[in-house]
Amino acid sequence: MRTMNEIILLKLGEVVLKGLNRRSFEDRLNANLRRRLQHYGSFHVYSKQSAIYVEPQSEDCDLEGAYAACRQVFGVIAAVRARSCPKDKDAIFHCAQNYLDGELRAARTFKVETRRADKHFPMNSMEISRYVGGLLHDAYPHLKVDVHTPELCVHVEIREKAAYVHGPSRPGAGGLPIGMGGTAVSLLSGGIDSPVSSYMIAKRGVQLELVHFFSPPYTSPQALEKVVRLAKELTGWCGRMKLHIVPFTEIQEAIRRSCPEDHFTLIMRRFMMRLAEAVARRTGAKALVTGESLGQVASQTMDALAVSDEVCTLPVLRPVIGMDKTEIIAISRKIGTFDTSILPYEDCCTVFTPRHPRTRPHLEEVLEYEKALDIAGLMERALAGIERRTVSMGD
Ligand code: ATP
Ligand code: MG
Repeated sequence: MRTMNEIILLKLGEVVLKGLNRRSFEDRLNANLRRRLQHYGSFHVYSKQSAIYVEPQSEDCDLEGAYAACRQVFGVIAAVRARSCPKDKDAIFHCAQNYLDGELRAARTFKVETRRADKHFPMNSMEISRYVGGLLHDAYPHLKVDVHTPELCVHVEIREKAAYVHGPSRPGAGGLPIGMGGTAVSLLSGGIDSPVSSYMIAKRGVQLELVHFFSPPYTSPQALEKVVRLAKELTGWCGRMKLHIVPFTEIQEAIRRSCPEDHFTLIMRRFMMRLAEAVARRTGAKALVTGESLGQVASQTMDALAVSDEVCTLPVLRPVIGMDKTEIIAISRKIGTFDTSILPYEDCCTVFTPRHPRTRPHLEEVLEYEKALDIAGLMERALAGIERRTVSMGD
């Protein structure tokens, strides 16, 4: 591992960094990075000149792991590992040669690009690039200079404390630092869509509280473990979260007993929304998040969505509403939840599925059917039975 004098440089999203926002963006991001990096050793994290520096404080830091973790932190748009060296033109050349030797051998064309933040440095950017590029050219005679589309761009940054050399940066997670956008309650099933919708809202800087409804003995302990696993997989992006596990069996049985079959799913979904909103009220969350996609199933038609929204006062965010399944799957693969999502365990939604669900329900009818249910009592008992688990990366 090449940790000696190696650091991680992170670039932040620039567009959002205007005015007053900038400070809170950076503070939040640095705090999130520090928390995330705890697992990889001791690091000094600070921002300077529109970049964030992640410096290992000891030899036993896991820089590889830290680098991967940083690239999952929302608010980071690009990341690169860099080697530091003294601010001297020959030291910079030697550093480039040692650090990027493999890349320099493999490339056919290259260029050196310099950024000089320290204006006291005796050469300007152009002069540094030309000097270092010339020596590299001598050292690797097979290389041709290509200033427009080089295979390898050797970056030199002259900053306050030191000079840094690095190759191309890799994309970060983008988005906004978690916590900047408040808190929302995300309804997490064991499926493909809801981990993706959770990720998408977290990406906009929102801290999530996860809610899962389970119906033992109709749903198995393995089905619940699958959801816990999905929540854990999300922590790489979303950070540490609380998972509220809500017992749903009594409600489902009551609906089956007292309501017409073609309205099961709809009435059940209204309970989910009511319960999620109750959790939101208790946790200070300001919105609900679901993985619904228009027209995907009977309960996701416009009429059905209107009927389930009717029980909520908080906004219901549905980030995948306009996406095709294939698009949702692509994100699911990218964020690493797909393989868990397709494990074949039942969800409470799938245990009492009506044969002919209503796609164009009428609210008045639904309200009439719900009169057969003790909504307040069912809600109260479900809320009293909630089990809370903190899901974090480490465990
Ligand atoms: P997925 O299960 O991946 O979310 P889906 O197409 O199976 O997608 P539905 O089962 O119809 O969707 O549920 C729609 C949304 O309701 C889910 O995206 C999720 O947000 C929420 N939901 C469904 N079942 C549960 C559950 N058991 N616990 C928590 N939320 C759920
Ligand atoms: Mg589902």
